[in-house]
Amino acid sequence: MGKPSLLVAVAILVVFLWLFVPFNLLNQHLPWHREPVKPQEQTASPPPRPEKPEKEERLSAKVEVPFRKEEGIVTFRLSDLKEKLRIDYEYDAREGVLTIRQGKVQLTMLREAPVLSRNGVYLPVEAYPIIRKGEIRIPAVVVEEGLGRQVEIREDRALIEQNASVPAMAETGRREIPKGDARALIDYLSFLDTPIQGARVSTKDSHLPGAPRPYRNGVHEGLDYFSWTSGISIDSRTPVLAVADGVVVRADHDYQEMSEAERNRYLSIGVQNEGQTPQYILDKMRGRSVWIQHEKGVLSRYCHLSSIQGDITVGKRVKKGEVIGYVGNSGTSDGVKRSNAGMHLHLDLLIYGEWLWEGFTPAERRHILQSVLDR
Ligand SMILES: [Zn+2]
Repeated sequence: MGKPSLLVAVAILVVFLWLFVPFNLLNQHLPWHREPVKPQEQTASPPPRPEKPEKEERLSAKVEVPFRKEEGIVTFRLSDLKEKLRIDYEYDAREGVLTIRQGKVQLTMLREAPVLSRNGVYLPVEAYPIIRKGEIRIPAVVVEEGLGRQVEIREDRALIEQNASVPAMAETGRREIPKGDARALIDYLSFLDTPIQGARVSTKDSHLPGAPRPYRNGVHEGLDYFSWTSGISIDSRTPVLAVADGVVVRADHDYQEMSEAERNRYLSIGVQNEGQTPQYILDKMRGRSVWIQHEKGVLSRYCHLSSIQGDITVGKRVKKGEVIGYVGNSGTSDGVKRSNAGMHLHLDLLIYGEWLWEGFTPAERRHILQSVLDR
């Protein structure tokens, strides 16, 4: 085949292809024809921008809620919040306990006591519910730090964020409480140390948690350190130490001792209540207190103090062994008589707000406390 015949053959082939192969099919099979599809898709697809403003708008959505300002504190009516923020609440008037629920979050507050717990962990927030004529109000700080919603105060109304976030001070990753297992409980609490230098866990069963009491729901909640049972002399000059590193969540600097009549009146409410002393009255019986929230949901409560160290204020981070105050008898029958008798430290230990001593004998309770505190 010569050059001219080759040219003719190629020409025939080109004409054949042009005439008989459908143009679309050819287009599809030629790689350079497929490529433009991609850039076309890119230009045709909507840029991500339109989604963003929509999301921002959703995040910043706010509801208007009326507020009241008394003595510099902004409060909201709980029934308004329930409707506008879609939360739930329950007030146990007998115990004085207010529970607020928002999804998996449960806040607990106590009548006349400046403490706020979120899923069993106390937050460094001084707030209590204000209950008047059946109306319950809570301070704005509870909405912010407890429910994780921004509050913006305008002249005539408050704007509250509709979406909840996890507050910075909230603990996440709850552990399991080692209930009824002495060895596991000792291990769990092993980061604690004694609250009084040189003192030992009491030799008397009646000073241990779980000891019977004629009032206070029939049991003693914590551990008492008295002079005559702890191996050292204890009086109002005895410093009380933080049992571990933690954050102060309560410090009753402004504590006013009750009168004897007042204390008896409170106790009689318990007697009328089938011997069940309500929670908010139990709180008064603890006298001047400091509460410290530690890691792993552990809370330590130091009660009946005579004084509190000046720099121990709510929100302060303390170190293990730091002096937080001094032993006293505030809130006790001796304290209300202004007597110097009965000076002792009452120490409560809780994990996620729960009492730990169910199911143990007094000997086991002493062994656990000695293993943890007497090292
Ligand atoms: Zn006690």
